[in-house]
Amino acid sequence: MKDQQQKELYKGFWVSHMPIYSSFINRVRALKKRGHLSWFKLTNIIKEKFTCPICGYNGPFRDKVLDTGVRKHARCPNCGALERHRLRFLVVQTIFEEEHLAKLSMLHFAPEPFFQGYFKKRVERYVTADLDMVGVDCNVDIQNLPFSNGSYDFVYASHVLEHVLDDRKALCEIRRVLKPGGIAILSVPLVGERTIEYSEPNQEEWNHVRAPGLDYFDRYEECFSRVLKYTSDSFSGKYQLFVYEDTDERSAEKCCSGLSVEDGKNIDFVPVCYV
Ligand SMILES: [Zn+2]
Repeated sequence: MKDQQQKELYKGFWVSHMPIYSSFINRVRALKKRGHLSWFKLTNIIKEKFTCPICGYNGPFRDKVLDTGVRKHARCPNCGALERHRLRFLVVQTIFEEEHLAKLSMLHFAPEPFFQGYFKKRVERYVTADLDMVGVDCNVDIQNLPFSNGSYDFVYASHVLEHVLDDRKALCEIRRVLKPGGIAILSVPLVGERTIEYSEPNQEEWNHVRAPGLDYFDRYEECFSRVLKYTSDSFSGKYQLFVYEDTDERSAEKCCSGLSVEDGKNIDFVPVCYV
């Protein structure tokens, strides 16, 4: 009986002190992160400084080390956003400001975690989707969507279409589920002038079924009435939206100077498609 009472006492103690304990742990984690950031800034004091449009951090960005080489100024050390995330964030922010779409309904494919919170706060109806990702609202095939015509105002699918066998069908489906005046952001990684179709998913390129080129914009234009093109130089240089990539490892067929503004400095593109 005494043991039971002691157990209840301990349980009560932990339940009442748990919020204090977890708040202490969170503060220690925040201090540790601040410490790491300060140390990173100190040890990279001579590096160029940039601003992250997502979290507001100001200072040097981290380089990203890949099998193909080092990608300079790639990652925000505070929130982890890469060049492509920062560019897409600025495009989305511009669209939201210009189009006054506060009451929109949105479909987000392959949802990136840090975009989910941003979108959720701004749109009235937010639906996440993916073919097989766990935790999304709908597991759907983008080539055959189970939604009625004109269900959404805004569709966002970044780095998805290069994985889809029949991407033209997927584009038609996205247009079908958009309302009149609807908008879709459907960026793909552009790696050359001409799109190369693979006969099967390329395991060396994250199972992509094609390597989209600059001519990939023709596919958007086949389906949508207007396509706006945002690029790495559409916004201030302080956000660092270029991809400093060593292209030596790419095949000669795919390597193209058309995407490079200077040696190793490549432009990224974001298409904004209007119904
Ligand atoms: Zn950031």
